[in-house]
Amino acid sequence: LGVNRTTVMNAYNELASEGLIAGHVGRGTLVKRGYFSQDEDSFEQDTPAWLLGLAAGEGAVLGPDARVLSELVATGGYREVISLASGTPPKELLPAEQLQTIFMEGLSGAREEALGYVPVEGLLSLRRGLAARMRRRGVNVDLQNILILSGSTQGLGLIGRFLLNPGDEVVAELPTYIGAIQTFRALGARVIGVPIDSEGMRVDLLESVLSRRNPRLIYTQPTFQNPTGASMSQERRRRLLLLARRYQVPIIEDDPYGELYFDGKEPQPLKALDSRDYVLYLSTFSKMLAPGLRVAWLAAPEPMISRISLHKQVFDLNTNAIGQWAVTEFLRRDLMDGHLVMLRERYRQRRDAMLQAIKTYWPAGIRVNYPHGGFHLWCRLPGDLRARSLVREAAQERVAFLIGEPFYTDGSGHNYIRMSFAAPAEEQIEEAVRRIGHTMKGMLKR
Ligand code: PMP
Repeated sequence: LGVNRTTVMNAYNELASEGLIAGHVGRGTLVKRGYFSQDEDSFEQDTPAWLLGLAAGEGAVLGPDARVLSELVATGGYREVISLASGTPPKELLPAEQLQTIFMEGLSGAREEALGYVPVEGLLSLRRGLAARMRRRGVNVDLQNILILSGSTQGLGLIGRFLLNPGDEVVAELPTYIGAIQTFRALGARVIGVPIDSEGMRVDLLESVLSRRNPRLIYTQPTFQNPTGASMSQERRRRLLLLARRYQVPIIEDDPYGELYFDGKEPQPLKALDSRDYVLYLSTFSKMLAPGLRVAWLAAPEPMISRISLHKQVFDLNTNAIGQWAVTEFLRRDLMDGHLVMLRERYRQRRDAMLQAIKTYWPAGIRVNYPHGGFHLWCRLPGDLRARSLVREAAQERVAFLIGEPFYTDGSGHNYIRMSFAAPAEEQIEEAVRRIGHTMKGMLKR
């Protein structure tokens, strides 16, 4: 029985997309620690001085936690691994047919818009379309408030460069999105965690941080937070905005999941309550359409948009035009709302399958959130069970998920795991949860 090549490539791509491994010509694949492997032997004798400088420097954006996933590959084998690790849309939910039609029917008539250089702020029609969509969600913005980005990741980096100096502090939920932690740390900032509960960031605790320290930025995901799935209550949203004003600290609202809700009414962004211009709103088409498009946007006060655009111009001149054009056409042809209705239904079914399987197969004593949208289930393990040990043992059962620790900025979280229900179909979710439950029961008996 050979290892299936596609499965190997999928596992490889997943690790690479999470930034956990890197290929080096002639040296095979190395688990990333810093810019280079720490393995002395991997430096060649004639490495130029400037490169040695980089190797000795502090490029280490990702910590050693990355290795846990790579051990999965080492111990679990590649075959039949069901991965609940990465939060990306699965291929059957990517809008390939619609995009194909758009490209076939429209591309030749839109050469300049789709294939030329475009304004750094983004295609006018896309900015206009996004402003209209945001107004429908209760946010008072116009096209001059919108900047198109190469992923919201670029937005985090640009805002960070604009507002932070090395040594500055950023407040974020504890736990929070790994990519945001990495971005702020890469800019030399310190991330201060404020605990989150089922009603979002503990804004009461935020106040004491703001009064004792001097953070330059608050980073929050008020809706279906990654990793906890929690949403901030209206009361706390109002209080958060009051505090931002009192202490003069701008807020990044990172909202990739707000339109992927499963129960009840569509949640409004925090920015809908922001009458005083404290919120820099980021969202993305990565979860709603396809991450490969690399199209996202920032909604912010106009002076901020024009200044940040200058920074953006330095880095990439403009977000890829063909992706912007495709998204614009998707909106213009009125395909977006139907696509979202389909996604909500499918992801809701997957969430329900995961919750049901947990009820059926897991031992008692585990605390699990009930996410009303987004991609993630967040679990506190029972007793002394450590996530690191669980992920290793579960790898033997050919199932993958993420440990909680990298989502924390204070070294805690050893007994949490994050499972994404976005990618596998329901039967696979059930099987994965069953395998994890089986592993847990075995560990608890010892
Ligand atoms: N923010 C959060 C909270 C995310 O979960 C992700 C994707 N995992 C991103 C930002 C990055 O999105 P993009 O593809 O737009 O860079």
